[in-house]
Amino acid sequence: MTRTLISNGTVIDPAQGIHAQLDVLVEDGRVLDMQRTIAAEQAAEVIDASGLVVAPGFVDLHVHLREPGGEGAETIASGTRAAAFGGFTTIYAMPNTNPVCDTQTGVAYVLSRAASEGLVKVVPIAAVTIGQQGTDLTNLGALKDAGAGAFSDDGHPIMNAEIMRRVLEYTRVLERPVFEHCEDLNLTGQGVMHEGLVSLQLGLKGIPRVSESIIVARNVALAAATGGHIHICHVSARESVEAIREGKRSGVRVTAEVTPHHLTMTDEAVRGYDTHAKMKPPLCAEEDRLALVAGLEDGTIDCIATDHAPHSSTAKNNVFDAAPFGIIGMESAFPVLYTTFVETGQWTLDFLIERMTNAPAKIVDRRIGSLQTGMPADIVLLEMGTEYTFDASYIGSKSSNCPWLGQRLKGRIAATMVDGRIVHRREDAFGGVKTAPRKRAAGKRK
Ligand SMILES: [Zn+2]
Repeated sequence: MTRTLISNGTVIDPAQGIHAQLDVLVEDGRVLDMQRTIAAEQAAEVIDASGLVVAPGFVDLHVHLREPGGEGAETIASGTRAAAFGGFTTIYAMPNTNPVCDTQTGVAYVLSRAASEGLVKVVPIAAVTIGQQGTDLTNLGALKDAGAGAFSDDGHPIMNAEIMRRVLEYTRVLERPVFEHCEDLNLTGQGVMHEGLVSLQLGLKGIPRVSESIIVARNVALAAATGGHIHICHVSARESVEAIREGKRSGVRVTAEVTPHHLTMTDEAVRGYDTHAKMKPPLCAEEDRLALVAGLEDGTIDCIATDHAPHSSTAKNNVFDAAPFGIIGMESAFPVLYTTFVETGQWTLDFLIERMTNAPAKIVDRRIGSLQTGMPADIVLLEMGTEYTFDASYIGSKSSNCPWLGQRLKGRIAATMVDGRIVHRREDAFGGVKTAPRKRAAGKRK
């Protein structure tokens, strides 16, 4: 039996409506108790969380770990390190690897690599169609049995509406959501950024908003027709938010996520041809950004997901047209959103934490994202007082394609715990771990 006490922190657990100064006692990797004061003698080690917020570890439903096949940019080891640096304790890994994760062996590979190399928990997302080619369905039931937590062809849309209809019918029975990258490839064409004034001025080929929103609307209609659960990935356009809002209003099983970059940046960031502003879906206009913020605030958009997309600097340091789409996002998610929305008073810290913990957990129906008694002690310690430069020491990824590097931010991850074990800590952000009085430090930990 190993007991750890996290003392003197401010616990914020939105799932339980808790925001209070509480001590948290962890036993054998699970939350055992939370009280105003718990005697240090009860634990083998004590973590001093004075001045820190103690929250459930963040949950990211949208991460690209690149292994197998893209180990130059990221591995399961480095990707889960990025997660730990960002305070994420459970991440959902997209299947667009090489080979695509479309077999039971592929799912088992991710799970076994995560078990041996991973710092945080990884849930594989399996492909909807074989090779993500959009034509033949994978064996969804077998993939679920192997451990797939959701299904997606992310990186690509499922362009064929009949395929999407059948997938929603099957996954309704399997009780797993379909995560869809909504994009009409014919409308996107060769586009590399949002179609608007900026693309016109820069002479870059634009992607119209309707490329996303038409597939969102179609998917909402198909979810309505089948009763399946469609989850809309990385919403970017105002019209998509409206289609999701309408769907929810009429009782359709539609959920949605939004990324930190779409909440904080617009196509203006593309001026200067900065490839760190190149992503799919593209950064849209200010009216879209405002619609996303409003959608997240009113619950139309359920949660925040990063779409962590590592690319080597050789690939990203290319001309805008040729560079790959995407940026890394797990390390910067909390600081960027905290600085932009909580420091300015627009959101409460509780709201931000809820959208990164309990809200994504509810979509995948897992017993994660809260500090209820008996739940895994997946915990993040947050430090909010210091303004700092977000430099390379905050990056855990193998890649560094991050637009916020070098910026002054507030809000950082002091430590990340998975199953009661510290997997990441910043010495400059908290007091650390002490052996409790009259007890020996725990020799064996889970
Ligand atoms: Zn995508």
